[in-house]
Amino acid sequence: MTDWIAEEHRYLFQNYGRQPVVIERGQGTRAWDIEGNEYLDFVGGVAVNVLGHSHPAVVAAIADQAARVIHTSNLFYTTPMIELARLLVERSGLDRAFFCNSGTEAVEAAMKLARRWGYDTRGGAFEIITTTDSFHGRTMGSLSATGNQRYREPFEPLVPGFRIVPWNDLEAVRQATNDRTVAVMVEPIQGEGGVNMPAPGYLAGLRAWCDERGLLLIFDEVQTGIGRTGTFFAFEHDGVRPDIMALAKGLAGGVPIGAILARDEVAAHFVKGDHGSTFGGNPLAAAAALATVREVLAPGFLERARAASARLAERLRSLEDRYGLVTEVRGRGMLLAIGLARDCSAELVDEARRRGLLVNNVRPNAVRLMPPLTVSDDEIDRACDILEASIRALEGAGSK
Ligand SMILES: *Cc1c(COP(=O)(O)O)cnc(C)c1O
Repeated sequence: MTDWIAEEHRYLFQNYGRQPVVIERGQGTRAWDIEGNEYLDFVGGVAVNVLGHSHPAVVAAIADQAARVIHTSNLFYTTPMIELARLLVERSGLDRAFFCNSGTEAVEAAMKLARRWGYDTRGGAFEIITTTDSFHGRTMGSLSATGNQRYREPFEPLVPGFRIVPWNDLEAVRQATNDRTVAVMVEPIQGEGGVNMPAPGYLAGLRAWCDERGLLLIFDEVQTGIGRTGTFFAFEHDGVRPDIMALAKGLAGGVPIGAILARDEVAAHFVKGDHGSTFGGNPLAAAAALATVREVLAPGFLERARAASARLAERLRSLEDRYGLVTEVRGRGMLLAIGLARDCSAELVDEARRRGLLVNNVRPNAVRLMPPLTVSDDEIDRACDILEASIRALEGAGSK
């Protein structure tokens, strides 16, 4: 493996902090490196692999579609994107879909649509209110919306027209609203910010404020969508429907895709030529997404995933009770994090990997778990045993 890692260091941009594993193969929750070592993969491609690695339905859909037609451009109609749009529209209660290729592109589309709507209906209002610790992507627009100084500062000046207010602070949103405000955009649960839950009533309060002031509510469900939090969309927990929603990560089971869904009255403001993507809604990606979404929407699938996530959360909470190092378990469904008493998440990730478990140090003091929704009870138990052994190794013998 060290040879490949040295080659990577030689030939690729060094913009990622990769774990020192060269993964060659995956099957469900398991992955193998090129030396044949087996891991339980609780990173799941950063909340992408909702059905685990190489799920047979996704593999078959990709192979079948690849043999038919891979790409046509949007100068023509193709059927997989139309079927996919219907499923997403029916489930979300929104009216129309637009497809692109990544999360940041979905956020860009959502923000452009909001500005277009403001241009047509709100006298050119354009400002978008977002929150601290948010993550909306890396392109200039979505970076400008992202409330993380570390990502922003080296790339200033950013796109104007954003107001970043403290997360979970409704009053701050009210205060930041003015005549130029067009939308409020949040993640229903902040993912990259450390798996931060919305305060009770926060999302409903945003909805009420947007209704009162005639603003659009945009949910960035790039990470939380497609069953990740136990319901197909995270907003279903709170019963708060946005006007525009961004999707990506889990949507096509690992194949690059992004999407926005919007209400008809809003979507209608993108007229021919306003926005587009050469690859967007490409038959290959759409077929993979269709297979993924059908699995997740199959009767019983989300119920089982919720039962599995309850088991995982319970096991993690027992660590919280028994080890001083674990201060908190937070999140929902298969998007969970354990908070740590000190900045040792990188060491915990290393300890876990040496014992055969892949997890993610989302913050210096938090480890994030994003297993596939298909993870078995046995895999959950083994992962938690490894996590416990790793925590014990870090604590010395210091259990409370
Ligand atoms: C990952 C993520 C993005 C960016 O997605 P990319 O596909 O990496 O561009 C945007 N928003 C949220 C909430 C995310 O988690």
